Amino acid sequence: MSYTRDLSGREVGYLTVIERIPGKKKWLCRCKCGTLKEVSTQRLTGSAGRITKSCGCMSNDLRKETNKLNEFSPGRNIDGSYRTKPK
Ligand SMILES: [Zn+2]
Repeated sequence: MSYTRDLSGREVGYLTVIERIPGKKKWLCRCKCGTLKEVSTQRLTGSAGRITKSCGCMSNDLRKETNKLNEFSPGRNIDGSYRTKPK
């Protein structure tokens, strides 16, 4: 099948579809974090069995959430004090 659905404007997870990339079955998407990413039609619709929902930062966010819940996260020094991290 060669039809392509118009996905522009659609929001998939952190991604917002901006426009189709001419000549490709791919779409230019902007992630919540500001990163632009090319994502194939299949990956946006999930027809390939897997949906792309971010530029990759979503899994990083999830990891951060997990670390927050973890008493022994790498954010702590060995003596138990908290490391001061610039944010
Ligand atoms: Zn991102």
